[in-house]
Parts: sequence; structure tokens; C-alpha cells
Amino acid sequence: AKPQTDPHVPTPNHSGFDAKAARADFPILHQVVNGHPLIWLDNAATTQKPNAVIDRLSAFYRHENSNIHRAAHELAARATDAYEGAREKTRRFLKAASVDEIIFVRGSTEGINLVAQSWGRGNIRAGDEIIITWLEHHANIVPWQMLCAEKGAKLKVVPVDNDGQVILEEYEKLLSDRTKLVSFTQVSNALGTVTPAQQMVAMARRYGAHVLVDGAQAVSHMPVDVQALDCDWYVLSGHKVFGPTGIGVVYGKQSVLENSPAWQGGGNMIKDVTFEKTEYQPSPARFEAGTGNIADAVGLGAAFDYLERLGMENVARHEHDLLTYATLRLSEIQGLRIIGTAKEKAGVVSFVLDGIKVEQVGQALNRKGIAVRAGHHCAQPILRRFGLEATVRPSLALYNTFSDIDALTQAVREIRAETL
Ligand code: PLP
Repeated sequence: AKPQTDPHVPTPNHSGFDAKAARADFPILHQVVNGHPLIWLDNAATTQKPNAVIDRLSAFYRHENSNIHRAAHELAARATDAYEGAREKTRRFLKAASVDEIIFVRGSTEGINLVAQSWGRGNIRAGDEIIITWLEHHANIVPWQMLCAEKGAKLKVVPVDNDGQVILEEYEKLLSDRTKLVSFTQVSNALGTVTPAQQMVAMARRYGAHVLVDGAQAVSHMPVDVQALDCDWYVLSGHKVFGPTGIGVVYGKQSVLENSPAWQGGGNMIKDVTFEKTEYQPSPARFEAGTGNIADAVGLGAAFDYLERLGMENVARHEHDLLTYATLRLSEIQGLRIIGTAKEKAGVVSFVLDGIKVEQVGQALNRKGIAVRAGHHCAQPILRRFGLEATVRPSLALYNTFSDIDALTQAVREIRAETL
């Protein structure tokens, strides 16, 4: 790598965040893969777990495991405290007003489907319009297509410019009194674009529309404040924010949740059942039918505690430098084209290499111990907007270092030299 004397190139310690120390908290990162030290740059797909999360899961199963709420014994009390404690940690992390606004689900996909099936089914009618953007992950497209097909509603899509940024003037043109819902991502998983979420929510509000923000790719990179965003729902996946798989969150504004019908029916979500009539619990219990993913919710709470200790502002500063550095270094490579050049980006540098298939690049990087995603990233429409079916997508997390980027850049140069 070049000596880092250029004032435009951030240096490893510019942000003041000690990524090497954070890296030591993640045991999986300290192994050799295909003869090379593992470099994990597939964080947009899933993040690795710190000892704090692994140990918390282990402690739960060793000392606290029980079903919650129903049984009146010591372990049930411990499990309930741990589960509800995780709800409070989630509330704090998202800066929600109340724990009653925090619903545990399996992940972002289930969260969006919950909103579509509950509020959506109860409120969307024929002729209504739902607005999404071209940047969306399939999880924020398909549930709305299904709802529109069921209700005779219309799905409208906000275009993006050549840098992969939402065109706000076009968004404004799509908004009307028919708009009942706007649902968009805060950070694009395919390009890394950060959308002007607060502004987009405010614009939707002027037309009385409800707004869902897909935070799946945002929460591991930046501080989030759902009250400042003023969205009606915010969804996230635990596994993308250093927590376990199979657990995720829907934040919903209390006033909206109060007026949303139940989704799945069963135990836990009821106040009283007779064969004639069932009375439901208020939120969040109303939306958590059956036995939830108790241990993984507790693990997610530990992930939020861990991030709180590191400070999301510090993480964001470090990653901003890292992304700038990665973008500069990769764009120096001949024949490499970065897809997604928005002014505001987080976590992702998608690229293609002239004359070399994306899959080939992914496999060659794997042989060098470097894990990236090479494919369509479950966001086919946005890649097709750029005339592509796939990209190579290194994606960053707090434990990535400048030397990870140097190794990636060096490896891509070698692959180019070996292949062309
Ligand atoms: N939304 C975005 C922006 C994503 O990147 C993803 C996953 O990649 C999802 C939603 C779906 O998340 P999950 O598969 O964890 O439900």
C-alpha cells in the first residue's frame, strides 16, 4: 500500500476508534481460512458475534432457561426478566419512547410482513397507493406486492439517479392523497446509499401517509433515533447487528400499534378466550403469539449493550474513514467500477471488474481467505437499474481495519493480473 500521507486519505487512527481492540472481542475472526487469516467482509449478509453475546447465550441456557410469563417458578422469573430486559435494551438502543413499542420477531423480513399483514390488511383498500424506492431489498418489495394484489392497491417506485441516490423531486411527484404508506430502506444493502430518511418521512407526513423504515443495514453502522425519524415502524435483524440469527425487532409507534389488528393467533397474545370470542392483549404481547425466541432476544440485548459500550458515534466515525479509504484504494484499480457513488454511504462498496465474472472474483477472494458476497444481494431491481445482474460486495463492520482493506485491494489486483 502507498504511504498514507495524502491529506484526503484517512489514516487508521484518525477516528480515535480502536478497531483492533474491538476485533479481539470476536473469536471467529481469529482463524485461518484456505491458508490465510480470515478477513470477514460479508457483514451486510451477516455480522460476527462478540464474546459478550456468545457468553450471554451460554449463560442463559446454563442458568435461566424457561418459558416466560406463564409458569410461576424461579427460572420462569429469571427468563422473563432476561427477555423483558432485552426489550428495554432494544428500546434504549433505538431511543423509542416505550418498551410497549418493541416487538420481537424473527428478523426484518418477518417484521415487514407483520406490518403488511396486520396494519396493511386492516388499512389498505382498493385504489390506495404504497410507495417504495428502487433501492429496496426483496424483503421490502414482495410483501407490498402481495398486499397490493390482495387489496387492489398500487405499488409505486421512487427512481434513483446514476449515483444510486433517491430522486426527491420524483418522490414528491409520486406522493398524493392516495398514498397510504411509504416504505423505504435507511441504507441500501446493494449500494450502501444512505437515504435522507428524516426528510422522506416528513414529506410523506404532509400527505398523511404512514411510514416504515427498513433499518436492517443501518443499525450496525450509525446511531438510530426512531423518535427523531418520526417513522411509524422501524425494522431490524439481530444477526446484522452482532446479535443471534432468528431474532429481529419491529419498533411501532404506540398509537399505530394500538389500532393495528392482531397478526398471528395463539398463546401469549390473548387476555381471554372463549369459543365465541377472544380478547387480545395490548402491544407488544398482541404481536408475539406463541413461544418467542427467548434466548436469542436476550443475546440481542447483549449485542446492544456491547454497542452502547463502544458508542455508535465512534463506530460510525471509524466506518466512515474505512469506507472512504476502501473507496479510494479500490478505485485506483484499473478496470474496477464502483456501483453506487452516493454522497452519503455506509458499509458497502459494490463493484464489478471489467472482463471478469463477479462469481469468479468472489471465489478467488475466498481462496485468499477473504469473505465477500458476489451476487444479486436480494436486490435485483436496483442492480438492473445499473444494467447488472450481480456485483462483488465487500461490506464493512466495526471490527474491520485498514489492513483488511489493503489485503482486499492487493487480492483484487492479483486476481486481475492472474485472470486477464
Ligand atoms: N432489508 C435489507 C435492507 C436487508 O439488507 C436485508 C437482508 O439482507 C433484509 C431487509 C432482510 O433481512 P433478514 O433476511 O434478516 O430478514
